[in-house]
Amino acid sequence: MKQRSFVMLKPDAVKRRLAGEVLGRFENRGLKILAAKLLVITPELAKEHYGEHSERPFFKDLVEYITSGPVLATVIEGEECISLIRKMVGATNPQEADLGTIRGDYAIDTGRNIIHASDSETSAAREIALFFEDSEIYDYSMPDEEMIYEEP
Ligand code: GDP
Ligand code: MG
Repeated sequence: MKQRSFVMLKPDAVKRRLAGEVLGRFENRGLKILAAKLLVITPELAKEHYGEHSERPFFKDLVEYITSGPVLATVIEGEECISLIRKMVGATNPQEADLGTIRGDYAIDTGRNIIHASDSETSAAREIALFFEDSEIYDYSMPDEEMIYEEP
């Protein structure tokens, strides 16, 4: 089943000039970028996006981190892509992330783990709607769709 995931390169990824390299991993895998924009998240949007963590001790630091510079917010589409992207992203704590994952290859600290990706269809729908208007999300066909999927 085709799914859409909300994937965000956090301020440390943008400032470290890793955005292109990380997005390239998804493109190389065969996933399709439907939307992308650079923006500085307001504290209000940060608190909404990370609402599930509002009672956690790291919440204040998390909001400060995620609003500390521009993020690259994207919508990515592909077959079962929500779990696929989470696998590519790796564990929340980069010390525990496998080599070959994004966090395992580019990050060291949980509080600077460079990327967010939706963890379920429910959160993907919620997060995409928080960051994007429908008109900012583009659907198009890939010319090599048959090379990526047996049954496109
Ligand atoms: P994710 O889905 O893998 O991003 O992880 P979570 O949903 O559990 O946490 C959201 C984000 O909060 C993480 O990506 C980290 O940026 C941050 N975070 C989680 N746990 C901690 C922590 O113990 N300390 C700090 N400083 N940040 C944390
Ligand atoms: Mg999460």
